[in-house]
Amino acid sequence: MKASEIRSKWLAFFESKGHKIEPSASLVPHNDPSLLWINAGMAPLKPYFDGRVIPDNPRITNSQKCIRTNDIENVGKTRRHQTMFEMLGNFSIGDYFKEEAITWAWEFLTSPQWIGFDPERLSVTVYPEDEEAFRYWNEKIGLPEKRIYRLQDNFWDIGEGPCGPCTEIFYDRGEAFGDLNDPECWPGGENERFLEVWNLVFSQYNHNKDGSYTPLPNKNIDTGAGLERLTSILQNVDSNFDTDLFRPIIDRTCQIANVTYHANLEIDIALKVIADHIRTVAFAVGDGVMPSNEGRGYVIRRLLRRAVRYGKTLDVDRPFLFELVSVVGGIMGSHYPEVVEKREFIEKVIRTEEERFHETLSEGLALLGELVKTAKASGQTLIGGTDAFKLYDTYGFPFDLTEDYAAEHGMTVDREGFDASMEEQRTRARAARQDTGGMNVQGGPLADFTAKSEFVGYQDLTLQGAKVI
Ligand code: ATP
Ligand code: MG
Ligand code: MG
Ligand code: MG
Repeated sequence: MKASEIRSKWLAFFESKGHKIEPSASLVPHNDPSLLWINAGMAPLKPYFDGRVIPDNPRITNSQKCIRTNDIENVGKTRRHQTMFEMLGNFSIGDYFKEEAITWAWEFLTSPQWIGFDPERLSVTVYPEDEEAFRYWNEKIGLPEKRIYRLQDNFWDIGEGPCGPCTEIFYDRGEAFGDLNDPECWPGGENERFLEVWNLVFSQYNHNKDGSYTPLPNKNIDTGAGLERLTSILQNVDSNFDTDLFRPIIDRTCQIANVTYHANLEIDIALKVIADHIRTVAFAVGDGVMPSNEGRGYVIRRLLRRAVRYGKTLDVDRPFLFELVSVVGGIMGSHYPEVVEKREFIEKVIRTEEERFHETLSEGLALLGELVKTAKASGQTLIGGTDAFKLYDTYGFPFDLTEDYAAEHGMTVDREGFDASMEEQRTRARAARQDTGGMNVQGGPLADFTAKSEFVGYQDLTLQGAKVI
């Protein structure tokens, strides 16, 4: 089954249960300063959940593009994480609650007409105090008690907004993925034999700005299933990156780099990271985010530069990521036309950023290589903060790029020292501006400009060396 069919089936299934299909919202949150990115299917629907807006239909379903930067380090290492993924969701705004949510999830996953998973392979987790959820799984669905795990972590809370206990569904991928005697294999463990596919959140409370919790006027259902994970199971492949959502990107990269996939672990990691990052960046730029030195723009810059560096480990020494944008469009365009419609713009932004980074990349990597060598020779395992700062300031290496490289050589980087150098430079830049006078305007329309110029001035300083405008 193709990923696009799974997505369509999801939407059709919940439509048949009276849900309205909502298109995916932008990755950039609208009117929500608490979030950098849309990171769950429910995020763009918050106004419905906290009662600010009443939807026409209290049942909603969607396939929402999401970005989770906290998963950057996992990409290429686990089978199941990307920085951008599609969360398939069904939502009830004060309408149905636990019983229907659980019954429909089971029906969708196990009915041969829909996903057709072998029911014997499924296990679930519940919040220890949520006897109600336990009962539905055990008595109504007929799941034996030993396949219902009680986990303290099963409370869903993403900061300000709706929250509550949850129940999660795991698929047993079988012997080849781990030994049952290892508790890390069980749901919630680090091993991926039991793959978490779906989280059903019973949102009963609102997490307020001041940190307090109050019961929501109506109880809601908020669920999220990973499209890439469902696809990896249905296509019977090793990881999300081996599905039709990623393979064409990996295959094109293999052609460009003249390497083979699944022949060498290091190469595979590089290919997965590149495939992941280019997809995320293409979508983010399509949603209007430009590479920069702060906020979302900085995330995009980090991802791009990280992908460039991984490209370099495959001996690709020229801009190439922009060539993958059309491949991403080919895979995703049917549901996300924006990546196709804005292709030329996205390519241009990525190409420019790649070209600029390439100008300093080799020099930066040479310096980094020296630093590692010198440190190793003297038995050290730490790269100094001032060195990391020089790499950032002069060669445009985001901190985590230096950290990645160091980690590959069994070393760490002095974060505190890096932050201190950054702060010193800020102070110097501020003082320099005050010396030249004129910029130090208090009040009036220029005050705003001054406040901004402080940051931009610092950025310019940073970017000059990196030859990025
Ligand atoms: P995990 O424990 O595997 O990191 P999670 O518990 O953080 O997942 P949830 O926040 O419960 O994930 O999100 C709901 C669903 O979205 C998950 O069950 C999974 O299918 C999918 N998902 C979450 N994070 C990612 C990711 N980084 N890449 C791909 N799919 C993801
Ligand atoms: Mg996670
Ligand atoms: Mg989890
Ligand atoms: Mg989860």
